[in-house]
Amino acid sequence: MATTKKDIRALTKDQLRDFFEKQGDKAFRGNQVYEWLWQKSAYAFEDMTNVSKETRQLLETHFVINNIEVNTMQRSSDGTIKNAIKLHDGLIVESVLIPTASRTTACVSSQVGCSLDCRFCATARLKRMRNLNPDEIYDQVVAIDKESKLYFKRPLSNIVFMGMGEPLMNYNNVIKAIDKITSSEGLGMSSKRITVSTSGVPKMIKKMADDEVKFNLAVSLHSAIDEVRTAIMPFNETFPLEDLKEALQYWHLKTQRKISYEYVVWKGINDAQKDIDALVKFCKYVPCKVNIIEYNPIDDSEFQQASKEAIQNYIQQLEKNRIVVNVRRSRGKDIDAACGQLANKS
Ligand code: SAH
Repeated sequence: MATTKKDIRALTKDQLRDFFEKQGDKAFRGNQVYEWLWQKSAYAFEDMTNVSKETRQLLETHFVINNIEVNTMQRSSDGTIKNAIKLHDGLIVESVLIPTASRTTACVSSQVGCSLDCRFCATARLKRMRNLNPDEIYDQVVAIDKESKLYFKRPLSNIVFMGMGEPLMNYNNVIKAIDKITSSEGLGMSSKRITVSTSGVPKMIKKMADDEVKFNLAVSLHSAIDEVRTAIMPFNETFPLEDLKEALQYWHLKTQRKISYEYVVWKGINDAQKDIDALVKFCKYVPCKVNIIEYNPIDDSEFQQASKEAIQNYIQQLEKNRIVVNVRRSRGKDIDAACGQLANKS
């Protein structure tokens, strides 16, 4: 049912303290409630056991806690878990837990659908419905941390913003969520273990550099030739490679940190020598590494994974030019949980 009460987690700690003061209570009450909302992830006011019944009722009349709910959970034969997460307004996003021998990574969504139109991505076919709020991003991490402890007996170790949506098109909320995830008043995770992946929005990359963010940056490059990139990622027309390059140079100058390029090699699209040459050249602009990722087929798409030889050519020539390159095996394919496959089939 629609409600006019305010989402209490939209309030900062100071606003919460003010609320209690205005109600004639102690501002300190705000700290207690804040701790319940974030560090302890309380999903109901009645769970706040050290808060008086009167206070809980007061909160109940003014606010709601817009919690998420794991609607369905699927487990892949490789251990990957995909969650369909139901938001308070009934919309669904997906988040994925990816276990390896040494770490557990949460792949989280930043938007419902996506406003970009990458031709090879299933999420792009959904269009953007809305941005996620900071608490909705935070809660995905909390849910996956719980699953990690339950199924793998260890806490979550890494977070990648590679689920649904373009994080830099929901920048403010993503930053607020990361602040909570890394804060000792939240989950206390290290920002070094967080990676934000973007299709490359130059203005926002510069803003991140100015904001001195501490997490890692990955850019979904897929081609270093404008015509090719525009054909597969049409927004490249608006944000061409020259602007991207300039923004990345700015990022490096300010942060002194390397960039990761995500790169899929497709048959007949970017598997020729000229594509490799362009990538090698692009990699020289800013210290970086390249992650070659396997293509995860989506329904009736014209894209096909390139041959092993084509990928070997890429690897050899990148290495010859002293560019670090990793090949990423895809995970959770059998349950459509791999990169680019998130599209709410359920
Ligand atoms: N919008 C952000 C984050 C979401 S996509 C971005 O573009 O980076 C996460 C990664 O999956 C990106 O590198 C994207 O290019 C890649 N991807 C999308 N569809 C894919 C597919 N079908 N197979 C493999 N990778 C895909």
